[in-house]
Amino acid sequence: MRIRIAGARVLGGQAQDIEIADGRLAEPGSAGRPDLTVDADGLIALPGLVDMHVHLREPGREDAETVETGSRAAARGGFTAVLAMANTQPTADTAGVVEQVWRLGRESGWTQVQPIGAVTAGLEGTRLAELGAMARSAAGVRIFSDDGHCVSDPLLMRRALEYVKGFDGMIAQHAQEPRLTEGAQMNEGVVSAELGLPGWPAAAEEAIIARDVLLAQHVGARLHICHVSTAGSVEIIRWAKSRGARITAEVTPHHLILTDDLVRSYDPVYKVNPPLRTAEDAAALRQAVLDGTIDVIATDHAPHPAEHKCCEWTAAAMGMVGMETALAVVRLAMREEEGFGWDQVARLMSRNPARIAGLPGQGHGFEPGAHANIVLVDPGAPHTIDPADSASLGRNNPFAGTEVDTAVHSTFLYGHPVVLDGELQSPHPASKEDTWPL
Ligand SMILES: [Zn+2]
Repeated sequence: MRIRIAGARVLGGQAQDIEIADGRLAEPGSAGRPDLTVDADGLIALPGLVDMHVHLREPGREDAETVETGSRAAARGGFTAVLAMANTQPTADTAGVVEQVWRLGRESGWTQVQPIGAVTAGLEGTRLAELGAMARSAAGVRIFSDDGHCVSDPLLMRRALEYVKGFDGMIAQHAQEPRLTEGAQMNEGVVSAELGLPGWPAAAEEAIIARDVLLAQHVGARLHICHVSTAGSVEIIRWAKSRGARITAEVTPHHLILTDDLVRSYDPVYKVNPPLRTAEDAAALRQAVLDGTIDVIATDHAPHPAEHKCCEWTAAAMGMVGMETALAVVRLAMREEEGFGWDQVARLMSRNPARIAGLPGQGHGFEPGAHANIVLVDPGAPHTIDPADSASLGRNNPFAGTEVDTAVHSTFLYGHPVVLDGELQSPHPASKEDTWPL
């Protein structure tokens, strides 16, 4: 299929035509008569976004999300690849389960789905999962995480880092000291004291990050820190990077802008793990995005059925959906930050996650021959976020009713238009073939 994208501003630069032939970018004028021309006047072209942290819930909780529905939501959000966390039922802790998720992703064909394997069997934190078998499986797992749980045993964490170092794998840690957060319902601070809800101290996150950056440097292995949420965590990561540790870190869109003040509403849509922190924490996270201490913005898309969210605060599940609104929310959160342009969006939401996750077809530039994973963004599309307007099964979006100005116009997955003018089109026709991803 030949496609001409007419007059797009690549990374926000001058308008130019982009041509796609057989799934790759072509020299302008070389692709011949296009089968499809997309008028991109006023639109920004970015490399397809890569979300390092999503919960697709399948297998086991298909009432919350499936690989198919989550993939459709990803495409609508401009994501051409997502990494699916392992806290499914059964846990993705064997070659069989990660291959199942990988195969479901291929069959859906809306985005590239790369499974993350569990670090410990059943996420129970007592013995290592079959890391080598998952790495050697068809899914080719390289990132392991017990996300939702912390690998809290320091010896087990050390062994995991040593094991994955052998094949340049990586451990992605959900940093939450379990004893310090027993029964915790929200950030520990002024608001938790006022509301009388058990608090979740920043130190419970920071203590694990401090321990793990030391372990990672000692072992010489790669460590990724999921959803950093406190100013103190940022300082520790900055310090560890300055010492040459092989660490990377991510932040969610919601932690860049929402704060624990919102918990005063007792609306469980604001209940999330790690919890919303203070305005000072959010400001430190935005600064860390700007100065490169944070490498990745990832959604932690966590859909829940209504009955797990429409209940009292203490009984509600933790988590927020986010793939379809991530780009708009990031633009909103960073609007006052000087130096945060489209190139930074591409770096934090595509190039860095693609490199860290080892996805060679993703996070590329716009040179001829590159895989045509592209998102077209409309930066002048004022609208109100409506959780019902979603391909995800989850409606637990904390940005419901928020006015934003950025919308995903089109998403091209290996040269195939999966979304055009904001509407889902068709899955990639080659997604069921052996050559996928192309
Ligand atoms: Zn987590």
